[in-house]
Amino acid sequence: MTTNNSKKAFAEAIQYIPGGVNSPVRAFKSVGTEPIFIARAKGAKVFDIDNNEYLDFVASWGPMILGHAQEDILAAIKSAAEMGTSYGAPTLLETEMAKQIQLMMPAMQLVRMVNSGTEATMSAIRLARAYTKREFILKFEGNYHGHADSFLIKAGSGALTLGEPNSPGVPESIAKNTLIAKFNNKESVEQIFEKMGEKIAAVIVEPVAGNMGVVAPKDGFLGFLRSITEKFGTLLIFDEVITGFRLAPGGAQQYFGITPDLTTLGKIIGGGLPVGAYGGKRQIMEMLSPNGPVYQAGTLSGNPLAMAAGLVGLRMLNDNQKIYAKISNLGKQLAEGMRKNIEALGLIACVNQVESMLTLFFGVEKVESFDDATQSDTDMYARYFRKSLESGIYLAPSQFEASFISNAHSQHHIDKALEANFEALKELVS
Ligand SMILES: *Cc1c(COP(=O)(O)O)cnc(C)c1O
Repeated sequence: MTTNNSKKAFAEAIQYIPGGVNSPVRAFKSVGTEPIFIARAKGAKVFDIDNNEYLDFVASWGPMILGHAQEDILAAIKSAAEMGTSYGAPTLLETEMAKQIQLMMPAMQLVRMVNSGTEATMSAIRLARAYTKREFILKFEGNYHGHADSFLIKAGSGALTLGEPNSPGVPESIAKNTLIAKFNNKESVEQIFEKMGEKIAAVIVEPVAGNMGVVAPKDGFLGFLRSITEKFGTLLIFDEVITGFRLAPGGAQQYFGITPDLTTLGKIIGGGLPVGAYGGKRQIMEMLSPNGPVYQAGTLSGNPLAMAAGLVGLRMLNDNQKIYAKISNLGKQLAEGMRKNIEALGLIACVNQVESMLTLFFGVEKVESFDDATQSDTDMYARYFRKSLESGIYLAPSQFEASFISNAHSQHHIDKALEANFEALKELVS
């Protein structure tokens, strides 16, 4: 396998784009190599510009739950494009989209569309602050909520891998309004609420952490967050940018049976186009401009191409709910197969899996918290990543990300991934 074209492309990109990429983790820095440039994708496969083929477990970081270049989604995008690509005026599609979201997630009584997950979370906390007339927000170590100033404090994902938990450029005056608790640790939340409870506008949480690698919430943890926020008049925001429409048609809130006040969405909701959304209780959402005083706007928000793609995707998921059983079962088989390989080779590693999301952590026996995740052996992951890539398996280029199963994956793909996993692990121990 050669990647000469990708190498050349990266050398050129670096001259025009900071670090050669438009999102940091794509640069493959934390796995000690250079990125492959993608030419095209179909189903469960991506193809690079050297014409190498990879079985894809990145899924564009989550959105591609129906597989790449899914035909109904493509058809919807094409026919929408022929009608014009943006008007900056209301369309029927936007109401259809909001109705579809509400059908799948009934807690979304009113929905506002934006263009990314970052915009969704950023806008949701502005709204929460206005609604509660409080300034503090509480987030969890290792949870990632996009790159807005208030969230770049002990954030996961790229910020974690690159060892820049606090980004320069985030003013102290903003950072001090973000309180940090430990994921899966009730005491850490209670301690903060004892002192500051009455000043906290919102608790924002990834109901299943996906940006420190996959970490499931402990039994009762999300229920505890629901009750402590209710007690203090604090809003609970579920950041379902990853989990929305992935864990279940109604996301983590359906899966765990817990209703947040506000929800943020992204990734899957755009069917592969750039979209985000936030929504929740009518009474809170009514505060948004033009009804209320809280300002938030977007030139391309509710873009017809993005609405068309997302809507078809959501309808497919809602109308074919057996997709969830399928991808979850494949996720489970992949996780169990990897655990067997780990054991057979006597490696210290563990696999966290929740439905169609999973992460293989090296050098640790369990990961239930951010502290556990940071104990993992990122050098080992880097070697594993490179071996996997060479054998045609495209994994997230960081220890602290999720692998995703899509509806385009088959039993055969999982078997192939497990064989490649065994071979890669074998070389790591030898
Ligand atoms: C990806 C992600 C975001 C940010 O979404 P963007 O579209 O990249 O801005 C926010 N929250 C979570 C949980 C995410 O995984």
